[in-house]
Amino acid sequence: MKYISILGSTGSIGTQTLDVVRGHSDKIKVSAITGNNNIELLRDQILEFHPELCCVMNKENASLLKEMLPPHIKTEIMAGMEGLVEAAEFDKSEIIVTAVSGMIGLKPTLAAIKKGKTIALANKETLVTGGSYIIDMAKKHNADIIPVDSEHSAIFQCLMANHKKSVNKIVLTASGGPFRGKNTEFLKNVTVEDALKHPNWSMGRKITVDSATLMNKGLEVIEAKFLFDVEPEQIEVVVHPQSIIHSGIEFCDHSTLAQLGLPDMRVPIQFALFYPDRVPNSYKSLSLFEIGNLTFEKPDMEVFKCLYLAFDSLKVGGTMPAVLNASNEVCVNLFLNKKISFLEIGNLNEKVMQLHIPKKIDCLETILEAEEFAVKTIKSILKYN
Ligand code: NDP
Ligand code: MG
Repeated sequence: MKYISILGSTGSIGTQTLDVVRGHSDKIKVSAITGNNNIELLRDQILEFHPELCCVMNKENASLLKEMLPPHIKTEIMAGMEGLVEAAEFDKSEIIVTAVSGMIGLKPTLAAIKKGKTIALANKETLVTGGSYIIDMAKKHNADIIPVDSEHSAIFQCLMANHKKSVNKIVLTASGGPFRGKNTEFLKNVTVEDALKHPNWSMGRKITVDSATLMNKGLEVIEAKFLFDVEPEQIEVVVHPQSIIHSGIEFCDHSTLAQLGLPDMRVPIQFALFYPDRVPNSYKSLSLFEIGNLTFEKPDMEVFKCLYLAFDSLKVGGTMPAVLNASNEVCVNLFLNKKISFLEIGNLNEKVMQLHIPKKIDCLETILEAEEFAVKTIKSILKYN
């Protein structure tokens, strides 16, 4: 039996992870789950999966959840970052699925790495902010990182024959999001509702907006650089609207391997949970006859400047990707709350990067300071507290 912790069990990746567990309950058991606001769902998950620990980030919600549970339930309820770290370090858990959204995921993921856990990594912000520091810590503590993000899972699978040294380039595919092919004039007036209409994937709100700005692809470029130890110039972003080819590798002999599948996150989640084994499931089979055409386009990095900024932050290095990520997180929140326009997300990210003097990352505090810089800088630019 494999025991797992799911950080962010109430989210899109979290609930799909539980669906994978449902299909393999004879092989996987959930020992710890965490959430923030959705305590009704946490209650249902406790009643169905009987984890030993449940952490609710929001302390008031933690108290409410305790009151909502019937007396026979033995699950321990914890609150705050302390609880999130406890779930990440949970003794019994062999695999930690990091499915919280945003930079809040960094601390617990690092805690799990230090305990030598296997990380099923969905939270891309961890590698974007921590970069090679996280990779070095994982090596030091013998913690395997298995990517859950569909593109990185694809690349990881293409590299399973261990030809890492022979990689020419990574072909990172992108759906293009809801505004593919649109120009800046069009984007001036798009609304939150427009941005939340992703053509292929159903995901959390933050990542859905990031898919519309192409920041999500930018974050994935940064994640890929650190995960697969390649130079930014070796990463080619290809817009592929059908989201069937999840990404690929061109090797030095000009042979290209790619991984294909229907857009269903349960597939890479299951792969990460069972790696290196493959196990059957009841999901839909890919029919290329039904799909018909696979098409490819160049991304427009002038209109979608967040993707350009991501490449740029990698070239600068150090804390710059962390600053871009934190700035973007604040901007997406402001956009979702209708305080700034869609195009301001990229413009503000660019301004914050211009004002940042990057530092080398040698500890967690350096990353947290860089994130704080971004948050404070946006506040001072927009003049709010
Ligand atoms: P969701 O917004 O759907 O879920 C986020 C989860 O994190 C929820 O469980 C939420 O709890 C919890 N959470 C939110 N804020 C906090 C906080 N401040 N402290 C503690 N927990 C918090 O996100 P997704 O599942 O879409 O994405 C999760 C991560 O996976 C992201 O980093 C994303 O980039 C990555 N990812 C997602 C993919 C997808 O298909 N969705 C694909 C590839 C990567 P609650 O709901 O209870 O408030
Ligand atoms: Mg992805």
